Amino acid sequence: KKGVRLDGISKIYIDPKTGKEFYAVKDTSLDIEPGTFVTLLGPSGCGKTTTLRMIAGFESPDEGEIYLGGEAINHLTPNKRDTAMVFQSYALLPHYNVFDNVAYGLKIRKISKEEIRERVMNILKLVEMEGMESRMTNQLSGGQQQRVALARALVIEPGVLLFDEPLSNLDAKLRVTMRTEIRKIQQKVGITAIYVTHDQSEAMSISDKIIIMSKGKVEQIGSPREIYYHPASRFVADFIGEANFLKARVLWAEGEKAMISVAGREFQVNNFAGAHKGDEATLVIRPEGAVLAEEGLLEGRVTLSTFMGSYQYYQVMVGDMEIQITDYNPVNRRIYEVGERACLNFDPKGVYIL
Ligand code: ADP
Ligand code: MG
Repeated sequence: KKGVRLDGISKIYIDPKTGKEFYAVKDTSLDIEPGTFVTLLGPSGCGKTTTLRMIAGFESPDEGEIYLGGEAINHLTPNKRDTAMVFQSYALLPHYNVFDNVAYGLKIRKISKEEIRERVMNILKLVEMEGMESRMTNQLSGGQQQRVALARALVIEPGVLLFDEPLSNLDAKLRVTMRTEIRKIQQKVGITAIYVTHDQSEAMSISDKIIIMSKGKVEQIGSPREIYYHPASRFVADFIGEANFLKARVLWAEGEKAMISVAGREFQVNNFAGAHKGDEATLVIRPEGAVLAEEGLLEGRVTLSTFMGSYQYYQVMVGDMEIQITDYNPVNRRIYEVGERACLNFDPKGVYIL
């Protein structure tokens, strides 16, 4: 397992529509620890695949340097890099059986027959494809093809495993199963993994760290928890999970403490670094981060109250702002109906200010 470092990486493409150059990836620096599972997450077109392809060597950066295990690798062709890629399309060899698909990367490396057999069988066991060696790839389900693709990448024992949206061709249920399997296998092998997805729940569920990208740039790097509870920007807060944004005004600020005014109410928050008196600010409340109560920090009126099974879903007008609240414990709290006055109660430590 190796670490990966990107130092000021940029990639310039020409927009086919306008004929103009643009940065698909701009001045990106990252440090990926050996043995960790890191996800590049962001909307379509933000530069995830381009970043991954530069690490794999299918594209070369226009600026910056890529390091693998401490060694600069910009000049190395893909096959000389200690990486293996798992593609969305699986990229299996159609006229080969499962064994030969997995063995392929070892054969071209001139490894002995006995060793190939042993390594292929071990990997097939790891991905739970034992006994399927002689199946042709067109006799496999999507999930099984994905396992074979993973086995092909793992069998050459690369320092870093790269994934580009590997699950997007699978149905929703299988996607959830496969993502946890990929995570378990990665942890078992202890390999460094860089995984590209636009699916935030996929990223949350498998990553040690998530790198949020937008328009060719890194917006934030952090654990799923850090990113969820401490989004660095409105973009991140909006992209990860649901979020309510409330306009706030800073009445006074001192260190990380600040008194803010929101919809006619005033209260103190303790985690607002860099605030200044008179600033406009945005209070971020997750739908599950507040509960409805008789008394609370904000006051509003219920405009929607819906039973959703595992939770009660509310919309509440607070001043001129509509807030969404999910109550996952409605059995033990009173249900508010449309038209009722309700207060929003939350721990000011649990909300976030931008
Ligand atoms: P993502 O994987 O995040 O969806 P990509 O890295 O594939 O995004 O693409 C980033 C941007 O670069 C997009 O605007 C895309 O259209 C553009 N792009 C990707 N490949 C090329 C190329 N070979 N030539 C020109 N533009 C490209
Ligand atoms: Mg992509």
